[in-house]
Amino acid sequence: MALHCARCERLSGVTGSLEDQLTAVVGRSHVLTDAATRAPYEIDWTRRFAAPSRLVVRPATAAEVARVVRLCADAGAAIVAQGGNTGLVGGGVPRSGEVVLSLRRLAEITGVDAIAGRLLAGAGATLADVQRAAGLVGLEFGVDLAARDSATIGGMIATNAGGSRVIRHGTMRSQLLGVEAVLADGSVVSRLSGLAADSGGYDLAGLLAGSEGTLGIITKAAVRLVSPASERAVALLGVPDTAAALALLPELRRLPSLDAVEVFYADGLNLVCSQAGLHRPLERDWPAYLLVELAGTGAVAQISDTLAGLDFEDVALAFAPDDRRRLWTYREGHAAAITAAGVPHKLDVALPLDRLAEFVDALGPLVAALAPTARCVAFGHLGVGNLHVNILGLAADDWRVDEAILRLVAAEGGSVGAEHGIGFAKRDWLPLTRSSADIAAMRAIKRALDPAGLLNPGVLLPAESASAP
Ligand code: FAD
Repeated sequence: MALHCARCERLSGVTGSLEDQLTAVVGRSHVLTDAATRAPYEIDWTRRFAAPSRLVVRPATAAEVARVVRLCADAGAAIVAQGGNTGLVGGGVPRSGEVVLSLRRLAEITGVDAIAGRLLAGAGATLADVQRAAGLVGLEFGVDLAARDSATIGGMIATNAGGSRVIRHGTMRSQLLGVEAVLADGSVVSRLSGLAADSGGYDLAGLLAGSEGTLGIITKAAVRLVSPASERAVALLGVPDTAAALALLPELRRLPSLDAVEVFYADGLNLVCSQAGLHRPLERDWPAYLLVELAGTGAVAQISDTLAGLDFEDVALAFAPDDRRRLWTYREGHAAAITAAGVPHKLDVALPLDRLAEFVDALGPLVAALAPTARCVAFGHLGVGNLHVNILGLAADDWRVDEAILRLVAAEGGSVGAEHGIGFAKRDWLPLTRSSADIAAMRAIKRALDPAGLLNPGVLLPAESASAP
Protein backbone atom coordinates (compact mmCIF):
# COMPACT_ATOMS: atom_id res chain seq x y z
CA MET A 1 0.00 0.00 0.00
CA ALA A 2 1.56 3.33 -1.05
CA LEU A 3 1.90 5.68 1.86
CA HIS A 4 3.50 8.48 -0.09
CA CYS A 5 3.01 9.80 -3.62
CA ALA A 6 3.72 12.93 -5.60
CA ARG A 7 0.06 13.44 -6.59
CA CYS A 8 -1.24 13.55 -3.04
CA GLU A 9 1.45 16.06 -2.13
CA ARG A 10 0.32 18.19 -5.06
CA LEU A 11 -3.37 17.94 -4.12
CA SER A 12 -3.01 18.47 -0.42
CA GLY A 13 0.11 20.54 -0.31
CA VAL A 14 1.23 18.26 2.52
CA THR A 15 3.93 15.64 2.42
CA GLY A 16 4.40 12.62 4.62
CA SER A 17 2.34 9.63 5.60
CA LEU A 18 -1.38 9.33 4.99
CA GLU A 19 -1.86 10.04 8.69
CA ASP A 20 0.05 13.33 8.38
CA GLN A 21 -1.84 14.32 5.27
CA LEU A 22 -5.22 13.60 6.86
CA THR A 23 -4.15 15.52 9.97
CA ALA A 24 -3.49 18.54 7.79
CA VAL A 25 -7.09 18.34 6.54
CA VAL A 26 -9.07 17.61 9.72
CA GLY A 27 -6.72 18.44 12.59
CA ARG A 28 -4.76 16.22 14.95
CA SER A 29 -7.65 15.45 17.29
CA HIS A 30 -9.74 14.03 14.45
CA VAL A 31 -7.27 11.45 13.18
CA LEU A 32 -7.40 8.60 15.69
CA THR A 33 -4.47 6.25 15.57
CA ASP A 34 -4.05 4.72 18.99
CA ALA A 35 -5.89 1.48 19.69
CA ALA A 36 -7.95 2.73 22.64
CA THR A 37 -9.54 5.70 20.85
CA ARG A 38 -10.09 3.68 17.67
CA ALA A 39 -11.71 0.80 19.53
CA PRO A 40 -15.38 1.97 19.61
CA TYR A 41 -15.28 2.47 15.82
CA GLU A 42 -13.90 -1.02 15.22
CA ILE A 43 -16.63 -3.18 16.73
CA ASP A 44 -20.23 -3.33 15.61
CA TRP A 45 -23.35 -2.92 17.76
CA THR A 46 -23.91 -6.69 18.03
CA ARG A 47 -20.23 -7.30 19.01
CA ARG A 48 -20.09 -10.05 16.38
CA PHE A 49 -17.92 -8.13 13.90
CA ALA A 50 -14.66 -6.49 14.95
CA ALA A 51 -11.25 -5.85 13.38
CA PRO A 52 -8.55 -3.19 13.65
CA SER A 53 -8.66 -0.18 11.33
CA ARG A 54 -5.66 1.60 9.87
CA LEU A 55 -6.94 4.79 11.51
CA VAL A 56 -10.18 6.66 12.12
CA VAL A 57 -10.67 10.04 10.46
CA ARG A 58 -13.44 12.46 11.41
CA PRO A 59 -13.94 15.27 8.90
CA ALA A 60 -16.41 18.09 9.69
CA THR A 61 -17.52 19.26 6.23
CA ALA A 62 -18.22 17.83 2.79
CA ALA A 63 -15.12 19.61 1.50
CA GLU A 64 -13.02 17.83 4.13
CA VAL A 65 -14.65 14.51 3.25
CA ALA A 66 -13.72 15.07 -0.41
CA ARG A 67 -10.11 15.82 0.49
CA VAL A 68 -9.94 12.80 2.82
CA VAL A 69 -11.32 10.49 0.13
CA ARG A 70 -8.91 11.86 -2.47
CA LEU A 71 -5.93 11.36 -0.17
CA CYS A 72 -7.05 7.81 0.63
CA ALA A 73 -7.56 7.09 -3.07
CA ASP A 74 -4.08 8.33 -3.87
CA ALA A 75 -2.65 6.20 -1.07
CA GLY A 76 -4.67 3.16 -2.20
CA ALA A 77 -6.28 3.04 1.24
CA ALA A 78 -9.70 1.38 1.48
CA ILE A 79 -12.44 3.29 3.33
CA VAL A 80 -15.31 2.16 5.52
CA ALA A 81 -17.87 4.94 5.97
CA GLN A 82 -19.42 4.99 9.42
CA GLY A 83 -22.36 6.91 10.84
CA GLY A 84 -23.88 5.98 14.19
CA ASN A 85 -22.45 2.42 14.06
CA THR A 86 -25.86 0.92 14.80
CA GLY A 87 -25.80 -1.23 11.66
CA LEU A 88 -26.53 -4.90 12.24
CA VAL A 89 -24.83 -6.64 9.29
CA GLY A 90 -21.15 -5.85 9.92
CA GLY A 91 -20.99 -3.31 7.08
CA GLY A 92 -19.89 -0.23 9.00
CA VAL A 93 -16.80 -1.56 10.76
CA PRO A 94 -13.40 -2.47 9.34
CA ARG A 95 -12.56 -6.00 8.26
CA SER A 96 -8.86 -5.74 7.45
CA GLY A 97 -7.13 -2.48 8.23
CA GLU A 98 -9.36 -0.05 6.30
CA VAL A 99 -9.58 3.66 7.14
CA VAL A 100 -12.79 4.32 9.07
CA LEU A 101 -14.33 7.56 7.83
CA SER A 102 -16.72 8.76 10.54
CA LEU A 103 -19.41 11.14 9.31
CA ARG A 104 -20.77 12.01 12.74
CA ARG A 105 -19.41 15.56 12.75
CA LEU A 106 -21.49 16.43 9.67
CA ALA A 107 -24.53 16.79 11.90
CA GLU A 108 -25.91 20.15 10.87
CA ILE A 109 -29.59 20.46 9.95
CA THR A 110 -30.39 23.39 7.70
CA GLY A 111 -33.10 24.48 5.30
CA VAL A 112 -36.05 23.25 7.33
CA ASP A 113 -38.73 24.30 4.89
CA ALA A 114 -42.35 24.07 6.03
CA ILE A 115 -43.60 25.39 2.68
CA ALA A 116 -41.90 22.69 0.62
CA GLY A 117 -42.18 20.11 3.42
CA ARG A 118 -38.52 19.15 3.46
CA LEU A 119 -35.25 19.63 5.30
CA LEU A 120 -31.55 19.36 4.61
CA ALA A 121 -29.58 17.18 7.00
CA GLY A 122 -25.87 16.54 7.21
CA ALA A 123 -25.05 12.83 6.93
CA GLY A 124 -24.13 12.71 10.62
CA ALA A 125 -27.41 14.14 11.93
CA THR A 126 -29.20 11.51 13.97
CA LEU A 127 -32.73 10.40 13.25
CA ALA A 128 -33.83 11.95 16.57
CA ASP A 129 -32.28 15.30 15.51
CA VAL A 130 -34.22 15.19 12.25
CA GLN A 131 -37.45 14.24 14.02
CA ARG A 132 -37.00 17.18 16.42
CA ALA A 133 -36.21 19.63 13.60
CA ALA A 134 -39.32 18.52 11.67
CA GLY A 135 -41.42 18.95 14.83
CA LEU A 136 -40.22 22.55 15.25
CA VAL A 137 -42.06 23.51 12.03
CA GLY A 138 -45.10 21.40 12.85
CA LEU A 139 -44.24 18.48 10.55
CA GLU A 140 -42.94 14.92 11.02
CA PHE A 141 -40.31 12.70 9.45
CA GLY A 142 -41.90 9.52 8.07
CA VAL A 143 -39.26 7.07 9.38
CA ASP A 144 -38.85 5.85 12.93
CA LEU A 145 -36.74 3.11 14.50
CA ALA A 146 -35.48 2.20 17.94
CA ALA A 147 -31.87 3.31 17.28
CA ARG A 148 -33.13 6.87 16.63
CA ASP A 149 -30.72 8.53 19.09
CA SER A 150 -27.61 7.16 17.32
CA ALA A 151 -28.49 6.10 13.76
CA THR A 152 -27.55 8.84 11.29
CA ILE A 153 -29.30 10.04 8.16
CA GLY A 154 -26.27 9.03 6.05
CA GLY A 155 -26.24 5.51 7.48
CA MET A 156 -30.00 5.22 7.12
CA ILE A 157 -29.83 6.17 3.45
CA ALA A 158 -26.86 3.88 2.89
CA THR A 159 -28.80 0.92 4.33
CA ASN A 160 -32.18 2.06 2.95
CA ALA A 161 -33.46 1.75 6.52
CA GLY A 162 -37.05 0.85 7.20
CA GLY A 163 -38.49 0.84 10.70
CA SER A 164 -41.96 0.79 12.13
CA ARG A 165 -43.63 3.26 9.72
CA VAL A 166 -42.74 1.57 6.41
CA ILE A 167 -46.30 0.31 6.11
CA ARG A 168 -47.39 3.93 5.74
CA HIS A 169 -44.47 5.97 4.42
CA GLY A 170 -42.05 3.47 2.86
CA THR A 171 -38.31 3.12 3.49
CA MET A 172 -35.60 5.83 3.51
CA ARG A 173 -35.45 5.75 -0.29
CA SER A 174 -39.05 7.02 -0.39
CA GLN A 175 -38.16 10.02 1.80
CA LEU A 176 -35.19 11.10 -0.31
CA LEU A 177 -35.48 14.27 -2.38
CA GLY A 178 -31.77 14.56 -3.10
CA VAL A 179 -28.26 13.89 -1.87
CA GLU A 180 -24.79 15.31 -1.85
CA ALA A 181 -22.07 12.67 -1.96
CA VAL A 182 -18.34 12.28 -2.43
CA LEU A 183 -17.40 9.67 -5.03
CA ALA A 184 -14.41 7.36 -4.84
CA ASP A 185 -12.07 9.78 -6.63
CA GLY A 186 -12.97 12.64 -4.31
CA SER A 187 -15.35 14.37 -6.73
CA VAL A 188 -18.60 15.72 -5.30
CA VAL A 189 -22.07 15.16 -6.76
CA SER A 190 -24.80 17.38 -5.40
CA ARG A 191 -28.50 17.17 -6.10
CA LEU A 192 -30.07 19.07 -3.29
CA SER A 193 -32.57 21.31 -5.07
CA GLY A 194 -35.30 19.08 -3.67
CA LEU A 195 -37.50 19.86 -6.68
CA ALA A 196 -40.40 17.44 -6.83
CA ALA A 197 -40.18 17.39 -10.64
CA ASP A 198 -36.51 17.08 -11.64
CA SER A 199 -35.75 14.03 -13.75
CA GLY A 200 -32.52 14.68 -15.67
CA GLY A 201 -30.93 11.27 -16.05
CA TYR A 202 -29.99 8.56 -13.62
CA ASP A 203 -31.35 8.81 -10.09
CA LEU A 204 -28.12 9.08 -8.09
CA ALA A 205 -29.94 9.56 -4.78
CA GLY A 206 -31.96 6.40 -5.38
CA LEU A 207 -28.78 4.55 -6.36
CA LEU A 208 -26.97 5.55 -3.18
CA ALA A 209 -29.94 4.40 -1.07
CA GLY A 210 -29.04 0.86 -0.08
CA SER A 211 -25.48 1.11 -1.46
CA GLU A 212 -23.96 0.55 2.03
CA GLY A 213 -20.95 2.81 1.54
CA THR A 214 -19.80 0.95 -1.60
CA LEU A 215 -20.56 3.63 -4.23
CA GLY A 216 -19.98 6.96 -2.50
CA ILE A 217 -19.88 8.78 0.82
CA ILE A 218 -23.15 10.58 1.50
CA THR A 219 -22.47 13.98 3.06
CA LYS A 220 -25.90 15.63 3.01
CA ALA A 221 -29.48 14.77 2.12
CA ALA A 222 -32.74 16.54 1.34
CA VAL A 223 -35.61 14.58 2.83
CA ARG A 224 -39.36 14.94 2.64
CA LEU A 225 -41.45 15.73 5.72
CA VAL A 226 -44.99 14.52 6.29
CA SER A 227 -48.08 15.94 7.98
CA PRO A 228 -48.15 15.51 11.74
CA ALA A 229 -50.65 13.21 13.38
CA SER A 230 -53.25 15.08 15.42
CA GLU A 231 -54.02 11.94 17.45
CA ARG A 232 -52.19 8.71 18.17
CA ALA A 233 -53.36 5.44 19.62
CA VAL A 234 -51.42 2.26 20.38
CA ALA A 235 -52.88 -1.18 21.04
CA LEU A 236 -51.05 -4.28 22.24
CA LEU A 237 -52.96 -7.52 21.66
CA GLY A 238 -52.23 -11.09 22.67
CA VAL A 239 -52.80 -13.66 19.90
CA PRO A 240 -52.35 -17.45 19.70
CA ASP A 241 -49.87 -17.42 16.80
CA THR A 242 -48.55 -15.64 13.70
CA ALA A 243 -51.46 -16.83 11.57
CA ALA A 244 -53.92 -15.23 14.00
CA ALA A 245 -51.94 -11.98 13.91
CA LEU A 246 -51.95 -12.00 10.10
CA ALA A 247 -55.68 -12.66 10.05
CA LEU A 248 -56.20 -9.21 11.61
CA LEU A 249 -54.35 -7.37 8.84
CA PRO A 250 -57.29 -6.96 6.40
CA GLU A 251 -59.34 -5.21 9.10
CA LEU A 252 -56.38 -3.05 10.18
CA ARG A 253 -55.45 -2.04 6.63
CA ARG A 254 -58.89 -0.47 6.19
CA LEU A 255 -58.06 2.08 8.90
CA PRO A 256 -56.95 5.32 7.23
CA SER A 257 -54.48 6.19 9.99
CA LEU A 258 -52.69 2.83 10.26
CA ASP A 259 -49.04 3.67 11.06
CA ALA A 260 -47.39 0.51 12.42
CA VAL A 261 -48.13 -3.21 12.80
CA GLU A 262 -45.43 -5.05 14.75
CA VAL A 263 -45.10 -8.58 16.07
CA PHE A 264 -43.15 -10.29 18.84
CA TYR A 265 -43.36 -13.58 20.67
CA ALA A 266 -43.42 -14.96 24.22
CA ASP A 267 -39.67 -15.74 24.37
CA GLY A 268 -38.75 -12.21 23.26
CA LEU A 269 -41.18 -10.64 25.71
CA ASN A 270 -39.67 -12.73 28.53
CA LEU A 271 -36.20 -11.46 27.64
CA VAL A 272 -37.34 -7.82 27.48
CA CYS A 273 -39.23 -8.04 30.79
CA SER A 274 -36.35 -9.69 32.63
CA GLN A 275 -33.61 -7.46 31.12
CA ALA A 276 -35.53 -4.20 31.58
CA GLY A 277 -37.36 -5.16 34.80
CA LEU A 278 -40.81 -4.63 33.27
CA HIS A 279 -44.18 -6.03 34.30
CA ARG A 280 -46.10 -8.23 31.85
CA PRO A 281 -48.12 -5.97 29.57
CA LEU A 282 -51.36 -7.99 29.46
CA GLU A 283 -53.49 -9.92 31.94
CA ARG A 284 -52.29 -13.28 30.72
CA ASP A 285 -49.36 -14.62 28.71
CA TRP A 286 -49.79 -15.27 24.98
CA PRO A 287 -47.65 -17.07 22.41
CA ALA A 288 -47.58 -13.98 20.16
CA TYR A 289 -48.22 -10.24 20.49
CA LEU A 290 -49.35 -7.67 17.94
CA LEU A 291 -48.56 -4.00 18.48
CA VAL A 292 -50.60 -1.59 16.37
CA GLU A 293 -50.27 2.19 16.13
CA LEU A 294 -52.75 4.53 14.46
CA ALA A 295 -51.76 8.14 13.78
CA GLY A 296 -54.22 10.70 12.48
CA THR A 297 -57.58 12.27 13.03
CA GLY A 298 -59.94 9.85 14.72
CA ALA A 299 -57.16 7.39 15.68
CA VAL A 300 -58.56 6.80 19.15
CA ALA A 301 -62.10 6.15 17.92
CA GLN A 302 -60.84 3.96 15.05
CA ILE A 303 -58.80 1.65 17.25
CA SER A 304 -61.48 1.44 19.94
CA ASP A 305 -64.25 0.64 17.41
CA THR A 306 -62.11 -1.88 15.54
CA LEU A 307 -61.12 -3.77 18.66
CA ALA A 308 -64.70 -3.74 19.95
CA GLY A 309 -65.81 -5.24 16.61
CA LEU A 310 -63.14 -7.93 16.79
CA ASP A 311 -64.17 -8.81 20.34
CA PHE A 312 -60.67 -8.97 21.86
CA GLU A 313 -60.36 -10.24 25.40
CA ASP A 314 -56.83 -9.21 26.37
CA VAL A 315 -55.73 -5.81 25.07
CA ALA A 316 -53.74 -2.86 26.38
CA LEU A 317 -54.61 0.52 24.88
CA ALA A 318 -52.56 3.71 25.17
CA PHE A 319 -53.37 7.24 24.02
CA ALA A 320 -51.16 9.58 26.08
CA PRO A 321 -47.50 9.91 24.93
CA ASP A 322 -45.99 8.28 28.04
CA ASP A 323 -48.45 5.38 27.93
CA ARG A 324 -47.79 4.82 24.22
CA ARG A 325 -44.04 4.87 24.81
CA ARG A 326 -44.48 2.34 27.62
CA LEU A 327 -46.24 -0.12 25.30
CA TRP A 328 -43.65 0.42 22.55
CA THR A 329 -40.88 -0.48 25.02
CA TYR A 330 -42.01 -4.12 24.90
CA ARG A 331 -41.30 -4.15 21.15
CA GLU A 332 -38.40 -1.70 20.90
CA GLY A 333 -36.61 -3.30 23.85
CA HIS A 334 -36.05 -6.51 21.88
CA ALA A 335 -32.76 -5.63 20.14
CA ALA A 336 -31.09 -4.45 23.37
CA ALA A 337 -32.45 -7.36 25.45
CA ILE A 338 -31.22 -9.93 22.92
CA THR A 339 -27.77 -8.33 22.72
CA ALA A 340 -27.58 -8.23 26.52
CA ALA A 341 -28.22 -11.99 26.53
CA GLY A 342 -25.35 -12.81 24.15
CA VAL A 343 -23.79 -12.07 20.77
CA PRO A 344 -26.62 -12.71 18.32
CA HIS A 345 -26.56 -13.79 14.72
CA LYS A 346 -29.10 -11.39 13.21
CA LEU A 347 -31.04 -12.26 10.10
CA ASP A 348 -33.28 -9.49 8.83
CA VAL A 349 -35.50 -11.06 6.18
CA ALA A 350 -38.73 -10.40 4.33
CA LEU A 351 -41.36 -12.98 3.45
CA PRO A 352 -44.51 -12.82 1.35
CA LEU A 353 -47.27 -12.37 3.94
CA ASP A 354 -48.99 -15.58 2.86
CA ARG A 355 -45.80 -17.55 3.69
CA LEU A 356 -44.87 -15.79 6.93
CA ALA A 357 -46.76 -17.99 9.40
CA GLU A 358 -45.31 -21.23 7.96
CA PHE A 359 -41.84 -19.66 7.99
CA VAL A 360 -42.10 -18.69 11.67
CA ASP A 361 -43.38 -22.16 12.57
CA ALA A 362 -40.46 -23.78 10.74
CA LEU A 363 -37.77 -21.68 12.49
CA GLY A 364 -37.74 -23.48 15.85
CA PRO A 365 -37.34 -27.02 14.46
CA LEU A 366 -34.78 -25.86 11.89
CA VAL A 367 -32.55 -24.20 14.50
CA ALA A 368 -32.98 -27.10 16.96
CA ALA A 369 -31.90 -29.61 14.31
CA LEU A 370 -28.67 -27.75 13.52
CA ALA A 371 -27.76 -26.26 16.89
CA PRO A 372 -29.75 -27.87 19.73
CA THR A 373 -28.48 -25.47 22.38
CA ALA A 374 -29.07 -22.27 20.38
CA ARG A 375 -32.04 -19.97 21.04
CA CYS A 376 -34.09 -18.34 18.33
CA VAL A 377 -35.90 -15.07 19.08
CA ALA A 378 -37.93 -13.42 16.31
CA PHE A 379 -39.76 -10.12 16.09
CA GLY A 380 -40.43 -7.58 13.40
CA HIS A 381 -42.56 -5.38 11.22
CA LEU A 382 -45.44 -7.75 10.55
CA GLY A 383 -47.40 -5.38 8.31
CA VAL A 384 -44.67 -5.52 5.64
CA GLY A 385 -43.58 -9.13 6.21
CA ASN A 386 -40.22 -8.05 7.66
CA LEU A 387 -38.96 -10.39 10.38
CA HIS A 388 -35.79 -10.10 12.49
CA VAL A 389 -34.58 -13.59 13.33
CA ASN A 390 -32.00 -13.60 16.14
CA ILE A 391 -29.99 -16.69 17.04
CA LEU A 392 -28.19 -16.77 20.39
CA GLY A 393 -25.67 -19.37 21.43
CA LEU A 394 -23.67 -19.76 18.20
CA ALA A 395 -19.99 -19.01 17.68
CA ALA A 396 -19.50 -15.79 15.68
CA ASP A 397 -18.04 -17.71 12.73
CA ASP A 398 -20.56 -20.57 12.75
CA TRP A 399 -22.65 -19.82 9.64
CA ARG A 400 -24.67 -23.08 9.43
CA VAL A 401 -27.88 -21.73 10.93
CA ASP A 402 -27.63 -18.43 9.02
CA GLU A 403 -27.33 -20.34 5.78
CA ALA A 404 -30.20 -22.71 6.50
CA ILE A 405 -32.55 -19.87 7.44
CA LEU A 406 -31.60 -17.76 4.43
CA ARG A 407 -32.14 -20.75 2.13
CA LEU A 408 -35.57 -21.25 3.66
CA VAL A 409 -36.35 -17.56 3.09
CA ALA A 410 -35.36 -17.88 -0.56
CA ALA A 411 -37.39 -21.07 -0.98
CA GLU A 412 -40.44 -19.25 0.38
CA GLY A 413 -40.03 -16.41 -2.16
CA GLY A 414 -38.64 -13.92 0.35
CA SER A 415 -35.62 -11.62 0.51
CA VAL A 416 -32.39 -12.25 2.47
CA GLY A 417 -32.03 -8.52 3.15
CA ALA A 418 -35.08 -6.52 4.17
CA GLU A 419 -34.04 -3.27 5.87
CA HIS A 420 -30.63 -3.71 7.53
CA GLY A 421 -28.70 -4.15 4.30
CA ILE A 422 -26.57 -7.08 3.19
CA GLY A 423 -23.31 -5.91 4.72
CA PHE A 424 -20.60 -8.48 5.33
CA ALA A 425 -22.92 -10.86 7.17
CA LYS A 426 -25.10 -11.84 4.22
CA ARG A 427 -23.12 -11.03 1.10
CA ASP A 428 -22.42 -14.67 0.30
CA TRP A 429 -26.16 -15.36 0.20
CA LEU A 430 -27.20 -12.41 -1.93
CA PRO A 431 -27.33 -14.71 -5.00
CA LEU A 432 -30.13 -16.64 -3.30
CA THR A 433 -32.53 -13.79 -4.00
CA ARG A 434 -30.78 -11.78 -6.75
CA SER A 435 -30.19 -13.26 -10.22
CA SER A 436 -26.74 -13.45 -11.81
CA ALA A 437 -27.82 -10.73 -14.29
CA ASP A 438 -28.86 -8.54 -11.37
CA ILE A 439 -25.53 -9.07 -9.59
CA ALA A 440 -23.59 -8.47 -12.82
CA ALA A 441 -25.41 -5.13 -13.26
CA MET A 442 -24.57 -4.16 -9.66
CA ARG A 443 -20.92 -5.11 -10.20
CA ALA A 444 -20.82 -2.96 -13.36
CA ILE A 445 -22.14 0.03 -11.40
CA LYS A 446 -19.61 -0.60 -8.63
CA ARG A 447 -16.73 -0.81 -11.14
CA ALA A 448 -17.85 2.37 -12.89
CA LEU A 449 -18.05 4.44 -9.72
CA ASP A 450 -15.25 2.82 -7.73
CA PRO A 451 -12.83 1.22 -10.21
CA ALA A 452 -10.14 0.61 -7.59
CA GLY A 453 -12.63 -1.01 -5.21
CA LEU A 454 -11.68 1.22 -2.29
CA LEU A 455 -15.15 1.98 -0.91
CA ASN A 456 -16.22 -0.61 1.66
CA PRO A 457 -14.65 -3.64 -0.01
CA GLY A 458 -16.07 -6.98 1.08
CA VAL A 459 -19.56 -5.58 1.70
CA LEU A 460 -22.83 -6.16 -0.15
CA LEU A 461 -21.56 -7.93 -3.29
CA PRO A 462 -20.36 -11.53 -3.04
CA ALA A 463 -16.64 -12.13 -3.68
CA GLU A 464 -15.98 -12.36 -7.46
CA SER A 465 -14.57 -15.84 -7.00
CA ALA A 466 -17.53 -17.07 -4.91
CA SER A 467 -19.52 -19.83 -6.51
CA ALA A 468 -23.30 -19.51 -6.45
CA PRO A 469 -24.68 -20.96 -3.22
P1 FAD B 1 -23.70 2.64 10.39
O1 FAD B 1 -24.01 1.46 11.23
O2 FAD B 1 -22.62 3.52 10.84
O3 FAD B 1 -23.41 2.15 8.89
C1 FAD B 1 -24.31 1.30 8.24
C2 FAD B 1 -23.88 1.15 6.77
O4 FAD B 1 -24.00 2.40 6.09
C3 FAD B 1 -22.43 0.73 6.57
O5 FAD B 1 -22.33 -0.07 5.43
C4 FAD B 1 -21.70 2.05 6.36
O6 FAD B 1 -20.51 1.90 5.62
C5 FAD B 1 -22.73 2.84 5.59
N1 FAD B 1 -22.69 4.29 5.84
C6 FAD B 1 -22.86 4.92 7.03
N2 FAD B 1 -22.84 6.25 6.84
C7 FAD B 1 -22.63 6.45 5.52
C8 FAD B 1 -22.50 7.61 4.71
N3 FAD B 1 -22.61 8.84 5.22
N4 FAD B 1 -22.28 7.45 3.39
C9 FAD B 1 -22.18 6.22 2.85
N5 FAD B 1 -22.30 5.08 3.57
C10 FAD B 1 -22.53 5.21 4.88
N6 FAD B 1 -32.78 -0.64 10.97
C11 FAD B 1 -33.95 -0.54 10.29
O7 FAD B 1 -33.92 -0.40 9.07
N7 FAD B 1 -35.15 -0.61 10.95
C12 FAD B 1 -35.23 -0.76 12.29
O8 FAD B 1 -36.34 -0.83 12.83
C13 FAD B 1 -34.02 -0.82 13.03
N8 FAD B 1 -34.05 -0.93 14.37
C14 FAD B 1 -32.87 -0.96 15.05
C15 FAD B 1 -32.89 -1.01 16.45
C16 FAD B 1 -31.71 -1.04 17.17
C17 FAD B 1 -31.77 -1.07 18.67
C18 FAD B 1 -30.47 -1.03 16.49
C19 FAD B 1 -29.17 -1.04 17.24
C20 FAD B 1 -30.43 -0.98 15.11
C21 FAD B 1 -31.62 -0.94 14.38
N9 FAD B 1 -31.61 -0.86 12.99
C22 FAD B 1 -32.79 -0.77 12.30
C23 FAD B 1 -30.33 -0.91 12.26
C24 FAD B 1 -29.62 0.44 12.09
O9 FAD B 1 -30.06 1.39 13.02
C25 FAD B 1 -29.81 0.93 10.66
O10 FAD B 1 -29.20 0.04 9.76
C26 FAD B 1 -29.28 2.35 10.42
O11 FAD B 1 -29.69 2.74 9.14
C27 FAD B 1 -27.77 2.44 10.52
O12 FAD B 1 -27.42 3.81 10.61
P2 FAD B 1 -25.97 4.21 11.20
O13 FAD B 1 -25.82 5.68 11.07
O14 FAD B 1 -25.80 3.64 12.54
O15 FAD B 1 -25.03 3.49 10.13
